[in-house]
Amino acid sequence: MTDCLFCRIVERQSPAEITYEDDAVLAFKDIYPKAPVHHLIVPKRHIASLLEASEDDAVVLGRCVLAARRLAEGTDYAHKGFRLGVNTGPEGGQVVYHVHFHFTAGRRPRTDA
Ligand code: AMP
Ligand code: ZN
Repeated sequence: MTDCLFCRIVERQSPAEITYEDDAVLAFKDIYPKAPVHHLIVPKRHIASLLEASEDDAVVLGRCVLAARRLAEGTDYAHKGFRLGVNTGPEGGQVVYHVHFHFTAGRRPRTDA
């Protein structure tokens, strides 16, 4: 079993409340939400951080961004707006080393979530 938490969620070996899925991307609710709406959007393929991303990862990272639009579609947040953030590296506040986009909505955003 992989020691990457988000790979385990992708493989359904750890529980999560999944909110969006396609062939390349998975989104699920953040277990410790920092806003009224807080999803994490991850590439299904393991990429440790944006600092490890290569040209080959460009399409899947773009697909993660488009998944944010899908999460917002059909909700108030398509009109009200939302925030997408990627914490990167130790001083960027990254704790889980599998690239993830924080999708937050529902109030004015903090700068670190
Ligand atoms: P980061 O600090 O950018 O690496 O964010 C990691 C995020 O993962 C935090 O917001 C955590 O609340 C969240 N998190 C940690 N464990 C889980 C889990 N099992 N399911 C969902 N979200 C998690
Ligand atoms: Zn992983």
